[in-house]
Amino acid sequence: MDERSVLTDRVALITGGSRGIGRGITLALADAGAAVAVNYRSRSDEADTTVAEIEKAGGRAIAVRADVAVRAEVEAMAERVAAELGPIDVLVNNAGIATIRSVDDITEEDFDQTLAINLKSAFLCTQAVVPGMRKRGWGRIVNISSVAARGGGAVGVHYNASKAGLEGLTRGYAARLAAEGITVNAVAPGLIDTEMATPLKESGVADRLPVGRIGTPDEIGQAVRMIVGNGFLTGQTVAVNGGGSFL
Ligand code: NAP
Repeated sequence: MDERSVLTDRVALITGGSRGIGRGITLALADAGAAVAVNYRSRSDEADTTVAEIEKAGGRAIAVRADVAVRAEVEAMAERVAAELGPIDVLVNNAGIATIRSVDDITEEDFDQTLAINLKSAFLCTQAVVPGMRKRGWGRIVNISSVAARGGGAVGVHYNASKAGLEGLTRGYAARLAAEGITVNAVAPGLIDTEMATPLKESGVADRLPVGRIGTPDEIGQAVRMIVGNGFLTGQTVAVNGGGSFL
């Protein structure tokens, strides 16, 4: 079965789906036939633009505001998506922040905020969708990690910890939900051309990568679509990093 038939008439929620990597994932899932809920926190114009693009191509989409680090907002978002599009079959935990901090400059607040938005959010969103997936015996959860889960990276230790935690969450849920038709995987991108990556683009990383360039949001969207289409793939982290693993 190809990804298009797996996703036809399914409902997908993509956190931070309005711009950057999330937008690439949203467009890839919508193109494969899913109705998509485009979550954002503050920039409603970018969410509306993404929704309009999907509708223009004949798809179904809504924009839904919520801070994914706040339980009540996550629960309200899941209820609204279910009411307007239908029960959530596919969850992509993509929303994240990357506040660059050195070992000496990082504060407790930086650490707490990063863990809340990059890691706790995935737990809250997963809790909100698993009961419905379990009832229907089918679900797909994809968590957007980073090369920084395993390497040092350029953001900071708070970011490393949040992404390593996200991969632990992935494997823990995967093991416990596999028998119920729910797969849980992670994608670990290398540097991708988004606003988040802007301060890192000048570092010459593209020249050091075997492919000689940084990645695009579409390329992460393609990987997520492939994962969602494969019911035998679970508990894995798929690295999409231009050969960065060889370095
Ligand atoms: P981005 O361009 O900064 O976009 C971030 C998205 O997340 C926006 O849609 C933003 O919404 C949303 N968001 C942020 N905090 C949120 C919150 N508390 N609640 C709801 N939505 C929130 O980032 P990106 O580069 O696309 O990164 C997406 C994911 O990929 C992140 O998890 C990041 O850590 C990971 N990643 C990125 C790279 C890279 O090189 N870009 C590499 C590896 C991993 P608003 O527009 O409303 O602010």
